[in-house]
Amino acid sequence: MKDITQYHATQSDALEYQVKITLYTLLIFGCYAAYLGGVLTIWWMVGLTSVLVTRWMIAFHELMHLRGADELDLLTRLLPIPFAPFNIGYREYRNIHAGHHADTANEQDPDAFHILGGHLRALFGAITLHEQQLVRYIRCHGLSLELAVMLTLRLALFVSLLVIDPMAFLAWWLALRLTYIVNDFVFFHLVHYRGGKEGSFPILLPVWLRYPAILIYGIDVVYATMHHDIHHEQQLIAAKYLHRYAAEMVTNGRKR
Ligand SMILES: [Zn+2]
Ligand SMILES: [Zn+2]
Repeated sequence: MKDITQYHATQSDALEYQVKITLYTLLIFGCYAAYLGGVLTIWWMVGLTSVLVTRWMIAFHELMHLRGADELDLLTRLLPIPFAPFNIGYREYRNIHAGHHADTANEQDPDAFHILGGHLRALFGAITLHEQQLVRYIRCHGLSLELAVMLTLRLALFVSLLVIDPMAFLAWWLALRLTYIVNDFVFFHLVHYRGGKEGSFPILLPVWLRYPAILIYGIDVVYATMHHDIHHEQQLIAAKYLHRYAAEMVTNGRKR
């Protein structure tokens, strides 16, 4: 096996993820503006928003492994995308994700409520994710001044966007939230629960699905989903290199 550090995410990768997060965030808001302005039809708005949210989610995940909240700009820390009226921010997501890596798919995992207990329970967890995360986080860590201020800012933004045009906002918000639910279900439940057993499992997409998915969602999304088991084994490997590491495992006869 080659030197594994060649697959590790670097400082320039961190910068790339940060730039992507900002760009995708602006484009996601741009979809709402374009829909309000009659530039995009509802289906183009829903489709583009959904793809952008998915790409945003993986950039956000990759960045969480590389940067603490204090190292980031305010926009990234704020997490202004209105998935819910009350939503946690970067610092809290990162804290929860560290817990997920420390206690993966067991009862101590802070993400257990949307991983364990069968498909239906996990789906309910994914549907109510943002609300449950906030309540569970405050119960466990308390409400800091920063979280209170950020919550207020995000709520103000949510309400401002809502009052511009409630029906248009509802359509855009549904695109945001439904995309998050589906992605969360795949990226937490399906990769960590199989045949009634918890663990970390690969989802080996067939080639005919893999390449169109890469075209639409990018390699980070596809490889992170396919090789989530390796991500838990080797957290420092960037999503874009997981596939190469997986190929090396096959060459060296290592079982997944
Ligand atoms: Zn991770
Ligand atoms: Zn995981």
